Amino acid sequence: MPAENPSNSDLMEKIVSLCKRRGFIFQSSEIYGGLASTWDYGPLGAELKRNVKDAWWKAVVHNRDDMVGLDASILMHPKTWDASGHTKNFNDVLVDCKKCKNRFRVDHIKGVCPVCKSKDFTEGRAFNLMFKTHIGAVEDDKGLAYLRPETAQGIFVNFNNVMDATHRRLPFGIAQIGKSFRNEVTAGNFTFRMREFEQMEIEYFTTPEASDECYKKWIEERFAWYVNLGIRKDNLKIREHGNDELAHYAKGCSDIEYNFPFGWSELEGIANRTDFDLKQHAQFSGADLRFNDQLENKKFYPYVIEPSGGVDRGMLAFLVDAYHEEEVEGRQRVVLRFSKQLAPVKVAILPLLKKNDDLVILAKNIKKDLQKDLVCVYDDTAAIGKLYRRQDEIGTFFCVTVDVQSLEDRHVTVRDRDTMKQERISVDNLKKYIIEKLK
Ligand code: ATP
Repeated sequence: MPAENPSNSDLMEKIVSLCKRRGFIFQSSEIYGGLASTWDYGPLGAELKRNVKDAWWKAVVHNRDDMVGLDASILMHPKTWDASGHTKNFNDVLVDCKKCKNRFRVDHIKGVCPVCKSKDFTEGRAFNLMFKTHIGAVEDDKGLAYLRPETAQGIFVNFNNVMDATHRRLPFGIAQIGKSFRNEVTAGNFTFRMREFEQMEIEYFTTPEASDECYKKWIEERFAWYVNLGIRKDNLKIREHGNDELAHYAKGCSDIEYNFPFGWSELEGIANRTDFDLKQHAQFSGADLRFNDQLENKKFYPYVIEPSGGVDRGMLAFLVDAYHEEEVEGRQRVVLRFSKQLAPVKVAILPLLKKNDDLVILAKNIKKDLQKDLVCVYDDTAAIGKLYRRQDEIGTFFCVTVDVQSLEDRHVTVRDRDTMKQERISVDNLKKYIIEKLK
């Protein structure tokens, strides 16, 4: 049963089409012709997204002693973005191709137009990526606000609030998941680059002396998170930024990159941001954002390690990595080999006869029992071979088939997604059996 994966160019097309057909990802506002670089998650995409976010929260908040969560608002005081540097510096430099008139990010094209191959461009112009809006009834500059381009600043401005509420000692961190908005100029590559997306960000506060060690540890932690959730190690790498790429305040920055069908690209960045952010906010707001070390009787600005990942990019990597095509008994099988934690559906209940009332009642009762603890679906709309293929294609872990024999012996057939092995299991032990296997 060797895995035969399609070529890279086909693979992306196949994944986009599967995502649409099976309800993972739809184009936003499709009936109006769509809106560029915005995407909606369908029923299965919504489940997958919840699972990715839950897995992250569990790993970085609940399973640790040194982290707490936060959920800050998207709209923030506009001074926030002056302090963070976004109003001044959050720009892409754009050029227009003089021949075909398309517009590109200068750092994306290496001097050659990707559309018409011309090398004749206009001068570069800076373009701020923040979406503007207005607060209040009058659309004037006094009410100017921005949709946040990152979640991180919500953490920095709440530093004192969290410290006062939780009485933490260093090192400790604050984690947040939430929407961010960027008016990206180069669109494309499906959900890799969106104008509205979700981030999973951590600001981990530590002493300057311990910051190098914390930075290294977070790179390892975050790399392991992707591997634990099923991504093949060969498809991941760490790329350390050169000095010419580093922001002036950063002491180090590394990207975790994934081998996407369109090339190695950033999944998550981990940076040692020194004490830049807290100092900036202290200066712009007048608040004292130093850490008060009562044991040592001193106040200082902690250093910050920032692991910053994208929910949507993560999901795309999990989808790409899970996608497999196999030949089974002369027929092609497409299977999404999601990890146990991420699979959007854990169990499908498939009654073999939909006209046998007793069998339908048994099958529905099985679902009723299982769905208290596991995400289940019920499908009786095709022949069994087709039902199995449908579930493989969305990565469902187990298919439970209820047949006439089940009415006599209260046993059902449980089929494993990966091995395709089938076992007869007693209805009374079914839930325990499945939960055990999913551990
Ligand atoms: P890129 O160089 O690809 O524009 P970035 O370096 O600007 O990304 P960061 O500002 O470090 O990205 O954001 C942290 C994470 O947020 C990224 O690693 C990515 O996973 C996610 N992210 C950033 N921009 C987008 C976007 N437009 N669409 C989807 N996810 C994004």
